[in-house]
Parts: sequence; structure tokens; C-alpha cells
Amino acid sequence: MPDGFEGLGLGDEVLRAIEDLGYEEPSPIQAQAIPALLAGGDVIAQAQTGTGKTAAYSIPIVERVVAGDRTVQAAVIVPTRELAVQVAEAVHALGRVRGVTVVPLYGGQPYDRQLRALRGGVQVVVGTPGRVMDHIRRGTLELDTVRTLVLDEADEMLDMGFIEDIEFILDKVPAERQIGLFSATIPARIEDLAQSYLREPRRVTIQQETATAPQTRQFWYQVPYRAKLDVLTLILDFESPQSAIIFCRTKREVDALTEALEARGYKTAAIHGDISQGQREQQLRAFRDGRVELLVATDVAARGLDIPDVTHVINYDIPDDADAYVHRIGRTGRMGKKGEAVTLITPREMRLLRLIEQQTRTKMKPLRLPTVEDIVARRREAYLEALRTTIDARAGNTYADVFAALAPDYEAREIALAALYLADGGEVPARTDGTRPEAESDDDVRAAEAAPSEHGMVRLFLDAGRKRGVSPQELLREFSDQAGVAPTTVGSIDVYDRFAFVEVKPGSAKKLLAHPQLTLHGLPVNLKKATPKRP
Ligand code: ADP
Ligand code: MG
Repeated sequence: MPDGFEGLGLGDEVLRAIEDLGYEEPSPIQAQAIPALLAGGDVIAQAQTGTGKTAAYSIPIVERVVAGDRTVQAAVIVPTRELAVQVAEAVHALGRVRGVTVVPLYGGQPYDRQLRALRGGVQVVVGTPGRVMDHIRRGTLELDTVRTLVLDEADEMLDMGFIEDIEFILDKVPAERQIGLFSATIPARIEDLAQSYLREPRRVTIQQETATAPQTRQFWYQVPYRAKLDVLTLILDFESPQSAIIFCRTKREVDALTEALEARGYKTAAIHGDISQGQREQQLRAFRDGRVELLVATDVAARGLDIPDVTHVINYDIPDDADAYVHRIGRTGRMGKKGEAVTLITPREMRLLRLIEQQTRTKMKPLRLPTVEDIVARRREAYLEALRTTIDARAGNTYADVFAALAPDYEAREIALAALYLADGGEVPARTDGTRPEAESDDDVRAAEAAPSEHGMVRLFLDAGRKRGVSPQELLREFSDQAGVAPTTVGSIDVYDRFAFVEVKPGSAKKLLAHPQLTLHGLPVNLKKATPKRP
């Protein structure tokens, strides 16, 4: 099978580990870099983000580790601590069957933990340049047994000013070794480094048609600066991304946006340089496990991270240049999956957008903002689709006993409607008298909606809630400003994630319902009469 991993000259143990990871075919960079590294010579490998470079060097590393030898046989140098952890995990997974031992070395973690691991006899180290250099200086790490040294994200490391640390490390490995240089771009400074340290390197280059991932559809919205947050929540509601990374320019903006999103009911993780290492790992794990859907990040914090299955990259702030743009949107559309990149652009940033388009040789599509109706329609569509899939798969069969328990007392249609309501996040209505409320006919409902509720108030339903930043104070203010409704005529206000209930005196209800178009945060909202609360 010359096309699969079997044709690359790997042993059974590593092949088994690859299969456990679920990789079926080597990616193009893997198909070329793996045999080149297994042959033992130096390699310069260039391929864009998301093409599987980690495994392209980790597979030959674990294949070449001599099992009985407990000295450091391979070292991987990476720009950030998150990446060190991630690559170490990949090496561990690939080398597990062979019993390969690996440790990540990075700043911000106490030395003694890393020391203990090093003393235990580690075969592969994965570290950031600074921490690896520190260990060498302290005498706690020796690289004179290293046979393979890989510099991953070499362009990033040089950009971040690590050149001296890297040269220090390169000078510490023996003359008889192989070096792998992995990078998304090969600028002149990397050529210089290769000139000085590599011997007749094999060049492995995966060409790309445009500078950005072809599977990623790219859009932009023009947004007034002050409306960015509202527009973002609109987009989130409309797109309902499974997992999105939202990029901000500064740490402070990451904090502010995270807080604002949390307050609106979105579960959000955040990473930036000032968040402690432990915290960052926790946040990333929550995002990777799907416990939160949104990750807010700065460029630096997200550099090189492998976050699988990101469906959306959202540039809350437009990046400063085309390189940063390409890096950011490289988080989606990985390994041929589909992805979407959405950029919010304030009028002043239009020129920057054009520049990025020119340099990446892509055209981004402008979109009009979704309206509330668009969002409601999209949600309904998604709900119907989910229901159809569930029905076709007979996934509800495990609830047959629940249905059987209700069937003597209710009709199938009633049971289905209640289940649909609850499945869509509806709240269980209050039941105060302990008995089953009388079933309501459609006429009863209409009569109830028309009549003022018990204590002389009319209950209104509003199709916007917490997720759009609605608060009781704001409703009082806007009703008064826009419809001339006195706050004293407003009773209880219940704000939920996506809607709200407001009780008002009949006169005010009339005013509100007659108003041609109420708006909140500049976007239209709709009011109608609701069923009054049960007494
Ligand atoms: P790069 O370093 O080139 O940006 P990564 O090594 O981080 O890319 O890989 C991107 C994603 O692709 C990871 O989630 C990885 O698990 C996955 N991946 C790598 N190789 C394969 C493969 N052969 N088949 C399927 N998925 C793969
Ligand atoms: Mg990588």
C-alpha cells in the first residue's frame, strides 16, 4: 500500500499508534518528510498551518528512538509553552506503544518537576528555547546524545527574537546528528540559519495556491466601532458556531470581551499572556473538550496551538497585517475540513482590509448583518433539522417508557409539543396547586392573552434577552424613551437568554404594542402579548 502510512518504512508499533490516532492517510507534508527524516539526513520542511507538521517530525522521532537507551535522543524546540505541551502529548501518543518517554520543558513551571522527569531518563525533550537553554546552563540537561533536533515554527521563533537561544542550543548538539527545520514560511533569516548549521538538507515544500487555507470561506462585516459587541452576539446567534476562536488585539480587550460575553450567557474561555500557565491550560482544555464554545485570545497566546475542529475564526479586531491574518484563520479549515473566517471591520479599517486581501491574494465577501428574523428562521431550521435526524436515527427510543407513562392521560400530540418545548430550552411552568392544570384549548389561550392578568397587568413577550444584552433597567429606560411608557406602570420583568417577559399596565401595553418599531442596541425587537402567569 504505497499510499498509506504502510509505505513509509515505519515499524508495526508506530503504525499501530498512528491507527489509534485515527489517521488514515499521511498528509502531503508527512508523505515526504517522514521518509526523508527516517533516512537520517537534514530536512527543511515548509507547509502552511494545519497540514500536520507535528506528526511529520514526531513519527520519525519515535520510530528512531532506541528503546533500551534512556538518554535524550531527540529534542524539539518550539516557540510557546502551550505548543511544548501539545507536541509532547503528540510524541507521547505516537510513542506510547514503543514506550518512548518524553517531557515538555517550558517556563512558568517549577524546575523540580521537570528535573524529576529528566533524572528518570527521558528520551525526547520538547521545550521552549529559553527554558531548554536554562536547563543546559544549569547542567540539568545534556544534548550530547541527541541524534535528532527539530526546530518547529522556526519562522515564529525567529520573529520572537529567539535566534541567540537557538544558536546556543544548536552549538550543544553533537556533530553527527540530523536537524529538521519546520516552518510555514522560509524567510531569508531561516536560510541563513540553515546555511550555517544544516548539511545538504532535503527540501520538502508543499505548495499552496493562495496564502490562506482554501477550505476556509472568508467574510467581513462593516461595523461602527461602538456596535461591535452587539454585532458579535448577533453573528454568534446567527451562525451558532460549534467552536469559535475570537481574536482581540490586546490582553485588556480579551478580558473585557470575555466578561461581556459571559454576562450575555455565552460560555467563554480566554487566553492571553498575563493569564497564568495553569489557568491557560485549564481554559484550553475546556475549549478542546467542548465544555465551552468560544475561546477569546490574543495572537501571541494562540500562536501555533493545535485546536482541532474549530468551525469559526472571528476577528473581533482586524489583525495588523496579512501574516497575522493568515495565522489566525489557519486555526480553521485544518486538514481539509471546512471553516469560516469572519472579520469585523470599522470604517477606518477598510484600507487595512484591502491590503490584507491584496497580500493574501484572496477576496473576502462582505455580508449584511443578520436581522432578528434571520436569526429566528435559522434557529428554527437548525431545530427542525436536528429533530429530523433524531427521528430518522430512532434515537428517542430509549424514552419509550416515559412516553408509555404519559400515554394513558395525554394525547401523542400534546406529549410531543411539551417535549419539543422542553428540548428547545423552555422552562417548566410553575405549578402551585399541586394538581394538574386544566388543559388549555387554543380558544382559552387566546382569551387569556387578550385579557389583562389577575392583578390588572398585561404580560408582554419580547423576542430579545440576555444574549443581546437586555437588562430590566434598560427595558425601563428604553420603553420610557421610545414609547413614553412611565416606569411606574411597569411591573415584573423576567429576562431569559433569548427572550423576556414584561408586565405592564393596560394603557402602557397599548402604547408599546402600537409602537411602529422598538429597538434595543440599535436593532429591532418585537413585542406581543403573552399568556398571563398562572395565579
Ligand atoms: P501544523 O503543525 O502543520 O499547523 P498540526 O500538526 O498541528 O498542523 O496538525 C493539524 C491537525 O491535523 C491536528 O489536529 C492533527 O491531529 C491532524 N492531523 C495530522 N496528521 C493527520 C493525518 N494524517 N490524518 C488526519 N489528521 C491529521
Ligand atoms: Mg505546528
